[in-house]
Amino acid sequence: MSELPYVLRPIPTDKAEELRDAGGPVFVANEHPGFPCRQCLLDAEVGEELILVSHDPFTGNSKYRSASPIFLHRVGCQLAFNPSDLPTQLTSRQLSVRSFDKDEMMIDAAVIDGDELESKIESFFDDVQSETIHVHNATRGCWAVTIERRAA
Ligand SMILES: [Zn+2]
Repeated sequence: MSELPYVLRPIPTDKAEELRDAGGPVFVANEHPGFPCRQCLLDAEVGEELILVSHDPFTGNSKYRSASPIFLHRVGCQLAFNPSDLPTQLTSRQLSVRSFDKDEMMIDAAVIDGDELESKIESFFDDVQSETIHVHNATRGCWAVTIERRAA
């Protein structure tokens, strides 16, 4: 089992806890999949509670900054994804993927089916300027994960 050649960055635990503490509408998952938690990168099981919050995945002062709606399990969850595989939460959905350079300026963007994610990440990172890729749900616009180039 080998690791992915890049690093998946879900919402950091401290940020997720901050957003849970600030509160938001609570949902109970009534279908699976359908309620993707952006901390553990799993879709909630039917009956699990989630909170809807707003998260800005940028870390610098990018002009592209924007918060998007995301679900989190209402009660803290553990990172559960397998580091050698892209989570089903991503590969099963239509995605918007955006490539950014070190100054968080957008280089490229595309709307793809999730099963194309792996090849799209590789083609974005073929450009040496590309440092991070932001993945969003193409339809509802929720930020899903940020992908970083693995340090050489
Ligand atoms: Zn979760």
